Amino acid sequence: MSPAEETAKLLRQFGVAGMGDLVSYSPIDGAEIGRLAVGNAAEAAERAARAFLEWRTVPAPRRGELVRLLGEELRAAREPLARLVTLESGKIVQEGLGEVQEMIDICDFAVGLSRQLYGLTIASERPDHRMIEQWHPLGPVLVISAFNFPVAVWAWNAALALVCGDPVIWKPSEKTPLCAEAVMALVRRALDRLGDAPDGLVQLVQGGRDIGEALVDDPRIALVSATGSTAMGRSVGPRVAGRFGRALLELGGNNAMIVAPSADLELASRAILFSAAGTAGQRCTTLRRLIVHESIGDELVSRLRALFAQAKVGDPREPGTLIGPLIDEAALDAMRGVLGDEIEQVDAVAGGFYVRPAIVEVDEQAGSVLKETFAPILHVLRYRDFEEAIALNNAVPQGLSSSIFTTDLRESERFLSAGGSDCGIANVNIGPSGAEIGGAFGGEKETGGGRESGSDSWRAYMRRQTNTINYGSDLPLAQGIRFDIAP
Ligand code: NAD
Repeated sequence: MSPAEETAKLLRQFGVAGMGDLVSYSPIDGAEIGRLAVGNAAEAAERAARAFLEWRTVPAPRRGELVRLLGEELRAAREPLARLVTLESGKIVQEGLGEVQEMIDICDFAVGLSRQLYGLTIASERPDHRMIEQWHPLGPVLVISAFNFPVAVWAWNAALALVCGDPVIWKPSEKTPLCAEAVMALVRRALDRLGDAPDGLVQLVQGGRDIGEALVDDPRIALVSATGSTAMGRSVGPRVAGRFGRALLELGGNNAMIVAPSADLELASRAILFSAAGTAGQRCTTLRRLIVHESIGDELVSRLRALFAQAKVGDPREPGTLIGPLIDEAALDAMRGVLGDEIEQVDAVAGGFYVRPAIVEVDEQAGSVLKETFAPILHVLRYRDFEEAIALNNAVPQGLSSSIFTTDLRESERFLSAGGSDCGIANVNIGPSGAEIGGAFGGEKETGGGRESGSDSWRAYMRRQTNTINYGSDLPLAQGIRFDIAP
């Protein structure tokens, strides 16, 4: 079945019918697979602001019930939704399923969290006083998402925002609008089952950069959680700061792996294949720089060349395919910009842009090695001593993910120490890609500094309030200040 026919069948199953100016294309064959209308930013912000007035006073465990129902809908629709992710983003079926599983996992996490939005009790310096810290809902949250995780990134944000008491507006990538429509169909089912959620609690606003900008500038939106390129973050960050809004930025990465002489090379090679070539190199956590000790460099590179040559590139729907298409021709051009004539295109499905992952050995970290090219290019650098390897890991503008393969405890601990990797994620004996939802996800420097998903990331979606309560019959001031009118 062609991607267009299969998409049409799936959309009917989800009850999604669209018409309009926004066109979606499948990267599998480049053909049009759907059309949708562009949304209205101001209207969405107004509805969300109204919904907030109600939702913020709904008890958090009741808010969690909505997310529990959404998790049920996602479980029931796991396969068709994953299939749609494959059709619209080009990732292989296994990765599509993994992406929907991630949505289910974060729903489960958020349901538990809805009974654990804990504050603190703080010791007061004054007699008969009590100090506490409470967390209150923040306000409407805008989620801007990228094409490469067309559904999971929304779920990471929305599941937390909803239990925290915040309405959610989603501006998905203009390259993957149909996946968002299918998710919204599931959200509507969950909302119907809950029965009493306010109108405008969860909204979808389709469109490109201009719609994104209109939403970013709207003062009714309390938090802008934006996932995408560093170029996008450079625009969004200052705009939100300019109106004193809150921003959570999840931007580009340029992730490295150090492979030390003691490493298990079999394990490292498999991790490198998945991290560098998986999702056709189109993950924010994709491995882009391999920093290998000179004593094992030749052996590792020859193993990798063999693995990369064997990995099947093709239609992501076919069993056995490990590497699907690039998202579009612009991605191919970006890859060609780095590789020139060395680029190896694969004639898989007419109309799609398929490439073999590339290994490029370089002597120094300069030029394109310092940039994130969203395609499967692995730059290989060699190091002599361990401090040099850490310095190379850190000497790029981005700071998302990193990893080390070593069986030397001193090296792995040094890598994780304050003087080690400067990234938001640092792993030992696994690749930099493929995070679990339980941890906080995000990175430093040009990656934007935001954290979402697990751990205590929920705090970004709430406002903190400090309370001091006097239950005595005197009025002592802090710091022992005396401020009395003389008798
Ligand atoms: P992109 O920056 O082109 O677009 C991302 C989203 O931002 C889209 O919805 C787009 O419409 C919107 N947008 C673009 N400019 C905007 C502006 N000025 N104002 C408001 N909205 C704007 O990114 P992409 O090509 O879809 O995705 C790939 C990029 O995303 C890579 O750089 C990748 O590393 C990054 N990414 C980061 C993470 C992370 O968690 N750090 C996760 C996934 C993807």
